[in-house]
Parts: sequence; C-alpha cells; structure tokens
Amino acid sequence: MSYKSDIEIAREAKKRPIQEIGAKLEIPDAELLPFGHDKAKVSQAFIDSVQDREDGKLILVTAINPTPAGEGKTTTTVGLGDGLNRIGKKTAICIREASLGPNFGMKGGAAGGGYAQVVPMEDMNLHFTGDFHAITSAHNLLAAMIDNHIYWGNELSIDERRVTWRRVVDLNDRALRDVVTSLGGVANGFPRQTGFDITVASEVMAILCLSKNLADLQSRLGDIIVAYTRDRDPITCRDIGADGAMTVLLNDAMLPNLVQTLENNPAFVHGGPFANIAHGCNSLIATKTALKLADYVVTEAGFGADLGAEKFMNIKCRKGGLSPSCVVLVATVRAMKMNGGVAKADLGVENVEAVEAGCPNLGRHIENVKSFGVPVVVAINHFVTDTDAEVQAVKDYVAQHGSEAILCQHWAKGSEGTEALATRVAEIADAGAANFAPLYDDDQSLFDKIETIAKRIYRADEVLADKKIRDQLKAWEEAGYGNLPVCMAKTQYSFSTDPNLRGAPTGHSVPIREVRLSAGAGFVVVICGEIMTMPGLPSKPAALSIGLDAQGDIQGLF
Ligand code: ADP
Ligand code: MG
Repeated sequence: MSYKSDIEIAREAKKRPIQEIGAKLEIPDAELLPFGHDKAKVSQAFIDSVQDREDGKLILVTAINPTPAGEGKTTTTVGLGDGLNRIGKKTAICIREASLGPNFGMKGGAAGGGYAQVVPMEDMNLHFTGDFHAITSAHNLLAAMIDNHIYWGNELSIDERRVTWRRVVDLNDRALRDVVTSLGGVANGFPRQTGFDITVASEVMAILCLSKNLADLQSRLGDIIVAYTRDRDPITCRDIGADGAMTVLLNDAMLPNLVQTLENNPAFVHGGPFANIAHGCNSLIATKTALKLADYVVTEAGFGADLGAEKFMNIKCRKGGLSPSCVVLVATVRAMKMNGGVAKADLGVENVEAVEAGCPNLGRHIENVKSFGVPVVVAINHFVTDTDAEVQAVKDYVAQHGSEAILCQHWAKGSEGTEALATRVAEIADAGAANFAPLYDDDQSLFDKIETIAKRIYRADEVLADKKIRDQLKAWEEAGYGNLPVCMAKTQYSFSTDPNLRGAPTGHSVPIREVRLSAGAGFVVVICGEIMTMPGLPSKPAALSIGLDAQGDIQGLF
C-alpha cells in the first residue's frame, strides 16, 4: 500500500479563510491582521482586552528520547488538538515556527505529518509571517551598533577581543561559523574574529519567546550582555543603546500567528528557540493568549522529556506562571525497539523482546514527569509497521508503571485516530488532579540546580565541573544572576550525555564543558557536550531538488 506524502495531503486541505478560524475563538475579524487568506496575526489590542479572562487548561506533549527519525510530537500535538475539538472541546494548539535553513539541507517539515498537520505548511517552513527575518534584523542591528560604537571611539571601553555578541542568518552555512570582520582598511573598523549562528539560536529568539509584552521584551533585550571591558565588566545592549530600535523591529513579530489544522481548527504558530542552548518551545505570549481564548491548549516542547519537558516546566512555566494540567508522553514502538538495541535498518521486523527491553526509557520519563506533580498519559503514535503484539507490550509495561498508554492513529486517520486519547486527556485535565511545582527553587545555588536536574531527571551520580566553571557560576551569583533557572544543553538521544547510552542508564556522570549567561532570556546555559549553533549542508542538500513546477507549485521541499 502506498501512502500520500505530507505535502500531498497538505495540498488537498480544504482550508477555510482565517477569519473563520479566528471566529472559532471569538476573535473579531478586525482584530486579525491577515497575511494572505490563511494566516493572521492577532492584534495587541485584542490580546490586552482578554487578560481578565480565566485560563483554559494547558496540556503538554512531550516524548521519550527520540530516535533520529523524530517521534511525532508535533504530529501528536496536532492530532490531539483535532481530537479534542472532535469531541466538542474548544481547543487551540500552540507550536513553534520552523527554521528556514534546515529545509534546504535534509530536514522534513515542522508542521506535523500525515492527516495531523498544520497548513499552509510551505509558508510555515519558509518565510511565514516574517518573524524570523525580524529577529535576524534585530539581532544584527545590535551587532552593527557594537562595531559602530568601537569604530567611533569606543567610549564604553569595550575589549574588542571580548565581544560575545555574534551575528545570525537563517541558513545552514558552515563557512560563516568563524569569520574575521572589518577587513579592508581603516574605514572599515577594527578587524576581529567573530562568527554567525543560525537565527533560531539567537538570544533574541529566546527573549521574544519568554517576554510577556513589549515592555518586558525591551527590558530583556536591554539586559543582553554583548561584550566585556578589559576589567571584565559586562557591557549590555542597553549600554549600546540598541534596545529601543530592536523593539521597534520586533513589534509585529511579538504578535502570535494564527493558522489552521487540516481539520480547520485554530493553531498558534509562534517563535522557535533552539531546544539545546535555549528552552525549545513556542512563545509565552502565544500560549498565554491561547489559554485566554480556548478551554484546552495543547502545546509541544522540543526533544525528549528529559530536556523538553524539564525546560518547559522549569523555565517556561516558572517564568510565565503557567501550570500544566496533563502531560502526554509520545512513544513509538520503533523508538522502544531502538532503545532496546535494534538498528535503524531492522525496525520493520516484529521484535516484542526489543520493545520490552526499550520500555524502561519510557518508564523513567513517566516517573520524571510525575515528579513535577502533573498526571501523565502515554500516546502510542502508531506506525503502519507496528504489530499488535508490540503495541500490547508497550501498553502492558505502562500499566505496570502506574500510567496508561493509548494507541493513536492520527497520522493515518486524523482526529478519528485520537478520540480515545482526547477523551482521556480531557477527563484528566477536568479532574484537576495536577499539583504542579518546578523541580527547584529560585534561591538554590546555580550548581545545586544543575545537580538537581542531573540527579532527579538524568539519574546521574554526579556532576563534573572544574574549578573554572564553578568559579564562573559563583561570580554570576555574586553579580545577581543566582536566581535564574538553568538551561541544559546535552544530547537528546540519551538520559546521559552519551548519545549511544540508550534505555534508562544509571551510574553515569554529567560533565559540564561550558556555562554561558543569557542575561536577557534569563537563564544560565549549561553545555554538556558538543553543541552546534550553525549547521552545515549535507553533500547533496535538499536545495538541489527544490524548485517550482509548471503550475507554480513548490517541488522537492518535503
Ligand atoms: P517531532 O515533533 O517529534 O520532531 P514530527 O511530529 O515532526 O516529530 O514527526 C517527524 C516525522 O515523522 C514527520 O515527517 C512525520 O510525518 C512523521 N511521522 C510522525 N508520525 C508518524 C506516523 N505515525 N507514521 C508515519 N510517519 C509519521
Ligand atoms: Mg516537533
């Protein structure tokens, strides 16, 4: 049997005008700022006008440690949102915008898959409503103003060797990772070594996604540390004077984007910070707005629950005052098998033993999520190659571990395939059993926070950090940053820092390679392993086969 590709299904979508989608959330036409017929931003005036309303219930979709294929979190977020609407619950979903660059490398789309997708998926994966371009511009304006400040006399005494603010572009371009700027003579400034990151790795992206409103945005932008003096005193964006102009550039980008699912249900797609050096979920303003407009809001966090859900709870919920009612943990039979030691090429063969061997990974995620005080239900995202016996093995395991697993077929069937999950999730959310609390307190030391995550989530024995790193953390505490949460950057493939250590490892240690202060975003990034902030293209990039056909349709993008 052959299946339609994601883009074929998306092109057959019977999209409704965006005003009709807005009407489902009682957003008046005049408060929608349309981009074409199928995308709109929601006006600030309207957002302001709904602030007194009660919040709906927040449902987080997260997953086990992923296999290289992706486990279908976005697909399940969309499928569950459609499922809840199908059973009569007023529901909106909130997901991230996609980075443009990786589309020309080898990545699939970021709008879900099969019959659980958000449309228009081509736009979503390309320029969309221009938010990422605005972020790129704001980021690079600051970079230009720093070099300009040095050029015109360097009143702030910036040490040119200690400018930490790099430049960004939303493309995969390894040639830009390390560059020398200002070559060409006196008129071009002072040559210095710097580099480019991809836009989604920008601190401006993380800030936009954590800001409550424009005033908060400007204040956080102002707090960004961009350089140091010779005496190691920090220079901020506010010192450079760029925060006002950057806020102007981001004025529209701060407004949430409304689109629709294949089943014409509302979907907010807004913001897209990295899930390693940043927190990896859509904007706080989109989530908060959705909570005012819908009774249920389904949202997604990047990577597996050890990273994504942990940061969602400890960073986004803490900063935004959010309180999730239920967590849906996506598991696939394929990933259980891979965690049980099966190679990617052999995933198509039934192997109940391997499924069982991989299940402890799932079990630990269940325990971890529960430790935040939020009820968990497991969604088995069904692939057509999964056998009944394999699915049953997952269900049995989960039942023995104090939760329940529900088979979901949204990829093949749309909302019909998630009715059971939606019904259960609504019951759990309505029962109000959640008693959410982040894992650590603001006033714990930074190292304590790191240890708490390493021991309670990764189940490591110890955190390894040399004196330089411990001293740095202490220095930040003395400078008043000790109350910030920590943002862990490690491999998504394992609970440990070794990507090959699958399943539910214990007895490992977590070595810290580097710590970075994102003073504007408001977290300390803890880097445990290699983190790539500017991807390259593969030897045969997707761009080679992307083009327009005779009808003007995009070919080769997915
Ligand atoms: P994640 O959000 O976890 O990265 P996605 O939902 O984006 O994962 O899905 C990754 C890819 O897997 C997409 O191309 C999607 O079409 C595909 N996919 C997801 N679920 C299924 C499924 N049940 N069967 C087949 N393909 C699927
Ligand atoms: Mg996703």
